[in-house]
Amino acid sequence: MKKKLIFIFMVAVTLSSCNKTADSDNPFFSKYRTPFEVPPFDKIKAEHFMPAYLKGFEEQKNNVDRIINNPEEPTFKNTIKALEYSGEMLTKVSRVFSSLNSANTNDTLQAINRELSPLSSRHRDDINLNEKLFLRVKSVYENMERFNLTGEEKKVLDNTYKNFIRSGAALSPEDKEKLRKMNEELSLLSVRFGENLLAETNDFRLIIENREDLAGLPDGIIAQAATLASSMGLEGKWVFTIQVPSMTPFLQYSDKRELRQKLFTGYFMKGDNDNSRDNKDIIARIARLRVERSQLLGYDSYADFVLERNMAITPGRVFEFLGQVWDAALPVAKAEAEAQQEVITREGGNFRLEPWDWWYYTEKIKKEKFDLDDEVTRPYFVIDNVITGMFYVANQLYGLGFSKRFDIPKYHPDVITYEVTRNRKHVGILLIDNYPRASKRGGAWCGAYRGQHRTEEGKMVHPVVTMVTNSTPPSGDKPSLLTAEEASTLFHEFGHALHQLLSNSTYPGVSGTSVPRDFVELPSQIMEHWVLEPEVLKVYAKHYQTGEIIPQDIVDRLDRASKFNMGFITVEYLAASLLDMEYHSLTGPTELNIREFENDAMSKYGLIPEIKPRYRSTYFNHIWASGYASGYYSYIWCEILDSDAFQAFKETGDIFNREVAARFEKEILSRGGTRDPLDMYIAFRGKEPGIDALLENRGLK
Ligand SMILES: [Zn+2]
Repeated sequence: MKKKLIFIFMVAVTLSSCNKTADSDNPFFSKYRTPFEVPPFDKIKAEHFMPAYLKGFEEQKNNVDRIINNPEEPTFKNTIKALEYSGEMLTKVSRVFSSLNSANTNDTLQAINRELSPLSSRHRDDINLNEKLFLRVKSVYENMERFNLTGEEKKVLDNTYKNFIRSGAALSPEDKEKLRKMNEELSLLSVRFGENLLAETNDFRLIIENREDLAGLPDGIIAQAATLASSMGLEGKWVFTIQVPSMTPFLQYSDKRELRQKLFTGYFMKGDNDNSRDNKDIIARIARLRVERSQLLGYDSYADFVLERNMAITPGRVFEFLGQVWDAALPVAKAEAEAQQEVITREGGNFRLEPWDWWYYTEKIKKEKFDLDDEVTRPYFVIDNVITGMFYVANQLYGLGFSKRFDIPKYHPDVITYEVTRNRKHVGILLIDNYPRASKRGGAWCGAYRGQHRTEEGKMVHPVVTMVTNSTPPSGDKPSLLTAEEASTLFHEFGHALHQLLSNSTYPGVSGTSVPRDFVELPSQIMEHWVLEPEVLKVYAKHYQTGEIIPQDIVDRLDRASKFNMGFITVEYLAASLLDMEYHSLTGPTELNIREFENDAMSKYGLIPEIKPRYRSTYFNHIWASGYASGYYSYIWCEILDSDAFQAFKETGDIFNREVAARFEKEILSRGGTRDPLDMYIAFRGKEPGIDALLENRGLK
């Protein structure tokens, strides 16, 4: 505690003593003088963040004081609207900092993040637990009908009021104090979890020295491993990591069972190695604090707390829904395991199928059944062409145009920048950042350096959107050649990007992707439906050497194989979703033994030992550090919506039907979080969706 106080004091002194020079150099302190006011990444230095944050905290605090001390009666304008626009500086710097800390971090940024997280937590609590401010918000909320509000304004008011209640504004002073301490500790624990995970991921390498240990691997994969090795100073050797684009092909093709085991064990033991980067104690503490925090706020469990603001509303509905899909998928996965065991026996293998065998035998069977593997399609999925393909879809549906720009600052040479337009009018800027590196966390995501909204005076602000993936990188003279799954991930993130780009809200807090977690994957997942449509493949799937369009025969094979291995894909995903729900349905503070808890939870549902949950507890970043706690189910929940929504296009016989697209944009993409999700969906589709389209989509019916 003492240490932190000294730290703040020192920063304050530094700020006032060299105010002038620091301020004028700090890009956050003035308007960005760049094309489209994209953050000037080339000028932003690590030392600019803390002063900008401190100024942001101060600015918002002063604005909040002004709201509280306003002698006039509380109104929507002088309280809710004023609060919506109270933190512009803070939003400006935090969007840049958090995006960079995920996509291009280093020791300095991580140290800043550690220092920042308790300060941010305290700052948020100063606002959320401010009694006078809450009384004003409450007064506006209770007198809502006096203010003649638009639908969007009503939603902003409702969100603000409920956010105060859910943040503890109605608690006693002693409970508020307890809550502050919990929030601070929780935010630090999440930071430590993420740091450990990145370090554990970067730390593991499978170094291959003998050519015979490469048996079974395709040439492209071997070349990629050689490139990686020389980039690490291991000339003449081959390196595989536990980053997905490096690990998965090894698991699919390597004939060396013990090496597959070594690599996959490195992956699934991340954060569980009883070393200084072990995440088990951190998770146990987070889970416990979440229970205590929820109960302090009057909820039985953390899931109850989270879900009341989601479409699902209660944990019971989530469990029921997951159970329905689980019951359909588990027998399919078991049959898949049996089929693999048969291949093992047929080949004279005298062992039981294990998790590190799954990809290998799946690939064999796929090859046998459909004469298809990733290496057949990769040459047709050149990353630049896949991007062209997704732009083509957005053009057909929404009339958007994308042009590459070379005058926009970047934070890394891998970033590509586009201006997005419609009818020659500017829509926004899109940044795409595709390849894995040690400074980037795993997975794929979409964010915004600036969200669409209108200023207090009503002027349109256009978004600056960023998509980040960890796709197969180029190697040697070969461009980046993607698997069908990676192509689909690009389309997915692009769907989130469209949600940001086509947003047409007034208030910043309800624009773009500011929708409930179990609705946010609708715009992203619906895009995945176009990626393998023949009409779309024709446009982008061209051979990287010959330019030949993907032959119809491969398209047919892709189509036939599209539901292959779906038992596994569904079960490993559901297992992680159930694990998430089990942690967050706890109703009493317990000292969890993480390994035991995970094992018990999985055996309760009868998960077969050949399958690991898609994320084990110690590297489940979504739920411990990324806002998906009791929300990982959202992907499959949203699949009910996206499968049904895509049907709306299919039913017209035209997957580019402009009328349906216009309705999807009007009722869903443009609205952000300005309306209730189910209302938005029904406005688009005319009815609520059922589970059938989802089961059919996965071949589980
Ligand atoms: Zn997503």
